[in-house]
Amino acid sequence: MRKISAYLIITLFIGVVCLPALIVIVGSNFEPLFQAEDPPQKLFQEQPTQPGELTIQVWHHQEKQIREMPLEEYVAGVVAAEMPASFEPEALKAQAVIARTYALGQTLTSGGRGCDNHPSADICTSDQHCQAWISREDVEEKWSEQKREEYWGKIVSAVQGTQGMVVTYHGEPVDAVFHSTCGGHTDNSEEVWSASAPYLKGVECSYCQHSPWAQKETIYSLNEFSELMSHFPKASPVSAYSTPTFLSVNRSSTERLMTLQVNDLTLTGHELRNLLSLPSTRVSWKVEQNKIVFTTKGFGHGVGLCQYGADGMAKEGYDYREILKHYYQGVDVIPIKSPAG
Ligand SMILES: [Zn+2]
Ligand SMILES: [Zn+2]
Repeated sequence: MRKISAYLIITLFIGVVCLPALIVIVGSNFEPLFQAEDPPQKLFQEQPTQPGELTIQVWHHQEKQIREMPLEEYVAGVVAAEMPASFEPEALKAQAVIARTYALGQTLTSGGRGCDNHPSADICTSDQHCQAWISREDVEEKWSEQKREEYWGKIVSAVQGTQGMVVTYHGEPVDAVFHSTCGGHTDNSEEVWSASAPYLKGVECSYCQHSPWAQKETIYSLNEFSELMSHFPKASPVSAYSTPTFLSVNRSSTERLMTLQVNDLTLTGHELRNLLSLPSTRVSWKVEQNKIVFTTKGFGHGVGLCQYGADGMAKEGYDYREILKHYYQGVDVIPIKSPAG
């Protein structure tokens, strides 16, 4: 497990205690945060840097260099990159807490892992490796002009409204994994990856039904299917799977496809998902004449927080703490504090 050193805990304690006071002091400076003429990427630029303010060394994949930035500014860029800003404020707050929790687990000065692709950085901006991050300037280009002020304001509020809050299990920051849409039930981590975690247990989720990924059909002609299957290592030649026979289908307790055999090929649900670009492994199928119809529920790996579910819970009036405690079982949502506190 990752450990937060006493140094970091004290540093954060100073940050958590002092920063709200600073926000009050600079309260009159809030407005400029939302103005287009502000220099981008400076969420808290009106706020003087304090010795206790935690910073993070971020490797930028586009710039190919490390940029040091205040943790809370980093968190805002993650929320902007990882969750639609149209989501409910409490869902955005849940995402901010997750982003902060993950960042703390990475921060080298706290005894975190660091980014092993970029050893002198704490974290990188690749969603394939650490977590996605986008600058204010870049994300605003994706939004319509009418929505820019509102959306950036929502992100700032989500970050400031959860300042210093993290998710812990027995006092340690959790591995706060998340996905877009679970499709009705999240999954036990050990059924998706090999590692199990007591707080990453599948829970029911009736809150993501408004997701465009709640249920999807992906259709291939049998020839297209056979062609794709033939790319799999040790597969037979192209035409072999145009009359597919599905054998020994194994599923997890939550309907996720674990392994299956198609004619002479045995592959995992994950491999089938990649091969056919399916949104998730909660998949069933039907062969109809010359085509095969795959029906999937959800989008993503299915472990931890369901983002559309978080949005749905927020719509029903749950706050970010309740949302986080639903998707991460048995955790605490707390401000970082000194060991004595
Ligand atoms: Zn990385
Ligand atoms: Zn869900």
